[in-house]
This record gives sequence, structure tokens and C-alpha cells, in this order.
Amino acid sequence: MKHKKKTTNTWAPPHCPNPSCLHHNNIEETWPFKKIGYFRRLQTPTRIQRFTCKTCKRSFSTQTFSSTYWQKHPDLDVSILMKTVGCMANRQIARDLKVSPETIDRHLSRIARHCMLFHNRMMQDLPPTPEVVVDGFESFEYSQYFPIHHHVAVDKETDFFLYFTDSELRRKGRMTDAQKRRRQDLELKLGRPDPKAIEKDMRELLEVVLNGTETATVFSDDHRAYPRSMRTLETKISHRITPGSQHRDKNNSLWVVNLLDLLIRHSSANHKRETIAWSKRRQSSAERLVILLVWRNYMKRRREKGRRSPTPAMELGLLGRPLEIKELFTERIFRGHCELPPRWSDYYDKIIETRALPRNRKHELSYGY
Ligand SMILES: [Zn+2]
Repeated sequence: MKHKKKTTNTWAPPHCPNPSCLHHNNIEETWPFKKIGYFRRLQTPTRIQRFTCKTCKRSFSTQTFSSTYWQKHPDLDVSILMKTVGCMANRQIARDLKVSPETIDRHLSRIARHCMLFHNRMMQDLPPTPEVVVDGFESFEYSQYFPIHHHVAVDKETDFFLYFTDSELRRKGRMTDAQKRRRQDLELKLGRPDPKAIEKDMRELLEVVLNGTETATVFSDDHRAYPRSMRTLETKISHRITPGSQHRDKNNSLWVVNLLDLLIRHSSANHKRETIAWSKRRQSSAERLVILLVWRNYMKRRREKGRRSPTPAMELGLLGRPLEIKELFTERIFRGHCELPPRWSDYYDKIIETRALPRNRKHELSYGY
């Protein structure tokens, strides 16, 4: 028996949730499944309908299509997201919500994965941006001996935070003799970061953001690696350089990216100056950053004081009004339905390794997402 994809009075699964089933990317109106009863649970709704795919025999339920699939505390995501962009550190959030810090870590990673898919889906129909401002946001992972950059790209016209990558860097700058010796010891033991990391990772950022467009204007500071990143790209780039020493006010052509840097420091506990809540892994730093990206683009108005001020996503015509936080979590987005750019795919799988850590935990769940 074939079922209609959507019926008027009952919900029907839009496709098979099994990524290796031929009905996973189903775009037809109908696909073969059958109802196989219910199960009961403590959370509302308490009665959950189960189904089986007649082709691959995978059984699933209405919950499989929910963003809270497999979660013990489905109500936590909204609070965690707002507290994260409200500059609370993970342990503070855990104390506030009366759950363990591990629960917060797990939820944060999952919210980040959902945010990656959400942003990627929103970007799918967006034409490439003609004027992009890029910058390297400085922070560190594990300890100050392991500095990192998050390379960020912002649309010059709308403040829309387009994409980011990361690089691990060698500790530079003023150091005491003891610090120099410590750096040498660590480098002998753990190896050094790739000296061309900034060039490569900035290139990867631009490749995704410019997406094969013919011409574009890129604004940046005078970092020596940036021109090398642009040289081999398909897009013909007009590169406008503003020296990093120039006063950073609204008249500076890098204003939108400077504003984003300020917002990241202001809203993220892990990037505050002199913090004790820095990220132990740049993987987690990336996870927090993609959550900030979604909040910044789709929920937060451009001007803090203007009640009618549009969000960057509204300026681009992606949404008609600011996204409500609950709307972000209305449905599960399937990884197989999105083509994540290479670096975000690595973030999704949690495979960015911090060299100072002997063991880096990856995302290897086959059912949870
Ligand atoms: Zn199937």
C-alpha cells in the first residue's frame, strides 16, 4: 500500500530516515511505509506513533523526525542556546539548569550540528556575495601555547556571518626565557602546526563563500598570507587592504568584521580576555561559534537599540522576520539532505584534533545526529 506524503488529519513521515535507503532522498509524493503501533513515554506527547519502511525494513517513529530525537532532556536546548550566546560558560550553565556538565557538553555539540545544517540549508539558494569582509579572530585552545585563528567571512552590506574555518598557529610574540623553553619542549613532543595553515584555511573559507562566482571584492587587513590564499582561486578577486593599525570605527572598511569580533568576545565566555573558561579544543570553539552564527544571522537584530532593526537574514531576504528560538528546533534536519562544506563536515564529525590532547572524542553515533 502506498501512502500520501501528507494527509490532512494525521502526520505522515516525509521520507525514510535511513540514509542508505533509496527513499531517504525521496522527492516523490508517495513512498512505501506502514504504521506499526505506538509506544508510550513520560514526556508529552506521551503516545508516539511507530512506522516501518517497507523497502529497507527500518522502523522509526514520529520522534525520529524531531530535533529532540533520542534526548533524555528535550527541553534543554532552548535554554542552553540562549545561555551560550549570553556568555555563560558550560559549567555555569550546568549549575543553572541543574544537570551535569557532560550533559551540557553533549547538548552543545548537538545544537551546533543542528545549527550547521540549518545555516547550510538557508544558504543553499543564496547567490554568492559580491563584497565580503574577512578576518582572523585570535584565540587559543588548551593553553596559551596553542593559539588559533577562526577565519571569518561577513557580507559587507548586511552583517550576515557567512562561514568560518580555523587554523592552529605557533605561539609567537613576547615570551620569557622559561616560556620559550616550554614552547620548544612542547614542539619537540607534539610537533609544530603547518606554517602555511593561514594561507590554506583562508583559501578554503573564500572558496566556500565565493562559490565559483566570476568576480568579487574582498576586504581584509594586511596579513601577508591573504594575497597568497586568493591567487589560485577560480574567482577574480579585487583585494582591498586596510592596514590593521588603522583606527577601527564605523568608517573603517573592515567595520562589519570588527563588529563581529567584538560580538564574539562579548557573547562567548570562551573568548573573553583573561578567561578561565577557554576552549580545551578548537573543535568545541567551532561548535560554540556556529551557534553564535545562527543567533547572529537569524535571531538578533542588526542594531541593538533599534526595535524595528532587521536581522542580517531579513536584509538578505532569507526570512521575513526574526527567527524565534523555538522555530529553530521545530524539525530535525538530516545530514544526508545537506552538503556541508569540507571543514564544517569535519566539525560535524568532531574530527578536528587538538594536538595537546592524547585522546579526542569524535561523533560516532549512528542513530543520534
Ligand atoms: Zn527505508
